[in-house]
Amino acid sequence: MKVLVTGGAGFIGSAVVRRAIAEGLSIVNVDKLTYAANLDNLRAVVGNPAYAFVHADICDAPAMRRVFAEHQPDAVMHLAAESHVDRSIDAPAAFVEANVVGTTVLLEAASAYLSAASEAVRQRFRFHHISTDEVFGSLSTEGSFSEDSPYKPNSPYSASKAASDMFVRAWGETYGLPIVISNCSNNYGPYQFPEKLIPVVILNAIAGKPIPVYGTGANVRDWLYVDDHAEALLLIVREGDIGETYNVGGHTETSNLTLVRTLCGILDDLLSESQHRPHADLIQFVTDRPGHDLRYAIDATKLQRNLGWVPSVTLAEGLRRTVAWYLDNAWWWQAIRDRGFAGERLGLRRSA
Ligand code: NAD
Repeated sequence: MKVLVTGGAGFIGSAVVRRAIAEGLSIVNVDKLTYAANLDNLRAVVGNPAYAFVHADICDAPAMRRVFAEHQPDAVMHLAAESHVDRSIDAPAAFVEANVVGTTVLLEAASAYLSAASEAVRQRFRFHHISTDEVFGSLSTEGSFSEDSPYKPNSPYSASKAASDMFVRAWGETYGLPIVISNCSNNYGPYQFPEKLIPVVILNAIAGKPIPVYGTGANVRDWLYVDDHAEALLLIVREGDIGETYNVGGHTETSNLTLVRTLCGILDDLLSESQHRPHADLIQFVTDRPGHDLRYAIDATKLQRNLGWVPSVTLAEGLRRTVAWYLDNAWWWQAIRDRGFAGERLGLRRSA
């Protein structure tokens, strides 16, 4: 099976590519290589004959048509996106361009390819859109998101992902493109760009810098280890039913403050000689994110019942593995720092 993965040089995309290659799939990775991409994430697969890389923007229609014509994929796993909520608050247009326009360009290219493809390819083809639980908006203290929850996105990021979900759905209904959508909770693990909460906490703690917690830290997220997400995605693209949506989550609801304190405890253990212990003393409460969703929780029963997927890594184990990975792989994040990313605060724009 040959899969066209978009955004395969990013955090989740690279986990999907590494796992897919290990499982014997062929991968064509299409990535624009934005600030969030990192070819170091793909060292394990570069040189493997089953892996090909195309440096291209999904908004470039001729380039996307060429990719389909040249590589003749059996499926698309579409992960390419602008993905950081804080950046979407500062510069929403880039999110509309990559996430909405880019998705429709890719849908058009997939449709054109499929209309000229053999019956065998048409039978097995899937267009899998990888989306977020943030499209459902915010929960209060009770309940969880199911596949039937109404869309109520609150940030420019989640609005752009909601829009792209809708376009994918529309291509399925209107043009008969065999689509499947998955909406997942917050991911964490190795190779996550150090602007997201967990790597920010780890790297600031290592350096003895203040650890920022937005607002009071009461916001609740359902964390999923990235390799568990990659496993779920590869299952959905192969076995998911056409036209269906699957929620993916870790059943690990945790407040940001509890999560940060847990990470600090792991760092205290693993860095027993550090002068910055106890790392929790570095926690600093900072101005909240505008429009910060209070709580997300995913009901992933459908994925478990229909495709037999359950997460394999507990939050405690995954966080420990993640901290250990960042401690052991300073070469990876130091290279990002050397390229000029200093971990500055983003996303405080409030004016209309
Ligand atoms: P990421 O920011 O780490 O990676 C995104 C990748 O997409 C990068 O390699 C980037 O270069 C590429 N890209 C961006 N714009 C592009 C364009 N126009 N053309 C080609 N490539 C482009 O993101 P991530 O955290 O790995 O998320 C991947 C996908 O999963 C996104 O669609 C995101 O919405 C979704 N998702 C993420 C999470 C999460 O917790 N990170 C949770 C649920 C869903």
